[in-house]
Amino acid sequence: MRCHEVGELLSALLDGELSSSEEQDLLRHVQVCPVCSQEFRDLQRLEDMMSKVCLPDLPDAAWEEHWSCLYNKLERRIGYLFAGIGITLLLIYGFFELLHMWFLNPAVSLLLKMSIGILGVGLIILCISTSREKLLSRRYDRYKELVR
Ligand SMILES: [Zn+2]
Repeated sequence: MRCHEVGELLSALLDGELSSSEEQDLLRHVQVCPVCSQEFRDLQRLEDMMSKVCLPDLPDAAWEEHWSCLYNKLERRIGYLFAGIGITLLLIYGFFELLHMWFLNPAVSLLLKMSIGILGVGLIILCISTSREKLLSRRYDRYKELVR
């Protein structure tokens, strides 16, 4: 066994994941190689320290705050969902009203119809572009869970 193979197997040895023949090969190398022996002792010491680490239970106030935040987030998301549905329905209604009152009305000049039409198309493209960018940047934001 060579040194570069040992490094990968040491933690497997400490976790008891090696077969007895692999374990014997590894221990044989560790006994004769001072570098791997030192690494093995360091790893044993680290594992020993980690086994003694005791994480305290969260106090009840922290749990209450956690559930309160969760409830507030859920509440806000439901609010955004309903507001979004309402705005969408209003936009659809407004679109059909505009279509009926302006675009199908022969008294309104063609230039005004075209201007409003182009403005509407531009606003729709801007809304779609902004929404898509916001969604994509939110999805790949590594710090979105960070509380500031
Ligand atoms: Zn070695």
